[in-house]
Amino acid sequence: MKFEKFDFVSINKLLLDRKISCTQIAEYYLTKINEGKNLNAFISVLGEQALGKAKKIDQKLDRSNMGNLAGMVVAIKDNLNTKNEKTTCASKILQNFFSPYDATVIKRLKLADAILIGKTNMDEFAMGSSNENSYFAPVKNPHDQTKVPGGSSGGSAVAVAASMVSATLGSDTGGSIRQPAAFCGVVGIKPTYGRVSRFGLVAFASSLDQIGPLAGSVKDCALLLEVIAGFDEKDSTSAKVPVPAFSQNLERQTQEIKIGLPDEYFSDGLNPEIRDQIFDSVEILKKHGATIIPISLPHTKYAISAYYIISAAEASSNLARYDGVLYGHRNNQTNNLSEMYLKSRAEGFGDEVKRRIMLGTYVLSAGYFKKYYQQAQKVRTLIKMDFEEVFKKCDCIITPTTPTTAFKLGEKKNDPVKMYLSDVYTVSANLAGIPALSMPCGFDSDRMPIGLQIMGKHFDEGTVLNVAYDLEQLVSI
Ligand code: GLN
Repeated sequence: MKFEKFDFVSINKLLLDRKISCTQIAEYYLTKINEGKNLNAFISVLGEQALGKAKKIDQKLDRSNMGNLAGMVVAIKDNLNTKNEKTTCASKILQNFFSPYDATVIKRLKLADAILIGKTNMDEFAMGSSNENSYFAPVKNPHDQTKVPGGSSGGSAVAVAASMVSATLGSDTGGSIRQPAAFCGVVGIKPTYGRVSRFGLVAFASSLDQIGPLAGSVKDCALLLEVIAGFDEKDSTSAKVPVPAFSQNLERQTQEIKIGLPDEYFSDGLNPEIRDQIFDSVEILKKHGATIIPISLPHTKYAISAYYIISAAEASSNLARYDGVLYGHRNNQTNNLSEMYLKSRAEGFGDEVKRRIMLGTYVLSAGYFKKYYQQAQKVRTLIKMDFEEVFKKCDCIITPTTPTTAFKLGEKKNDPVKMYLSDVYTVSANLAGIPALSMPCGFDSDRMPIGLQIMGKHFDEGTVLNVAYDLEQLVSI
């Protein structure tokens, strides 16, 4: 049986009807992972552990007390701590780090009987938009292996796109779930800040980071989100907001929906094929009753600058903990403590991480704090207010996820500013803390996937998922 034809919901049904076993499912995906090895989507494959868990669930099947995700084979971005397994963040500095505990999301997945099959490749410490910043190997896009899969959750997007798993978890600080989802033609959602516990996620920029699912369908994403979401006392920023049963509430509702289209997201720099495809999708929603409202988010043009200042500032502080003392790479050939710090960090971090640490330290330094960091925080507030204003008029916002489709490996690697600009449509949602989803809506003339982004109000993932679900039924790609 070829499970890639099925979303998880169908696999789960086959399992409940006893037409297949979890062991068969896990074996199947392990074969797929092996076949797709050259894509470099995985840092660790946990074959034995996956088969062991599958066997346990198969035994449970007879007792009919399975979790909601029984039979869901998932892979996890390698910046999420997984007990007794390696968590490398695709960095040399953590290449031999074994996590002593499970992140809250991992605990929840395990409780729901998901089968963890591996840890996915990523840009080092989630910094990047192409996955070329991995210490191990760059990930390749299965639609065209000369192209990037996007980043930083590139391995997670590729694992889904190449049917190596049912679904994955990624993290999104400025677009790292949505941009790779768009480049690889899968669905990915960054939840509202505070919706999902960050306990056990290796911090990049704590005020922006969120964990979220990537999957082949909106429903699978919804299902995974409702399992991982919810208050956690171990994360003081996690919100005490009830989690709706997203997957069960999915319904067609275009009739009543008001969709905002922001001018600023359709201007110069946007590939015309992407623009046309997004407009076509919006037209379909309109035909089915949605009201389209032109809106303006005037501070969008400052979003990239504000994002790269704030995220670098937070990163420089978060990454201070890698000093070769408690964990991670240490240079043992030094004469004193500060030399040990210096050499361990110089050897352990890659170029992009060092660039962010330098930038972050600079914008936080006494002389420049006001000029850069404080300014960026003010801009962040203005961006947030832009959204508050437009959400008085519309229920959600539709935009392209990215200005281009996947680009060539090597094309932007040596031009960081060009690379940063590929996040132009995704960073605002993180700065404002709102939920945002990317879903495939067509292909360009090179048959590369095009992503459509839906942004919603704080804690209104329900509307975002519903509109996405609707579009998924209406647009056949
Ligand atoms: N590409 C962006 C960056 O490099 C976003 C990364 C992310 O969301 N983790 O910072």
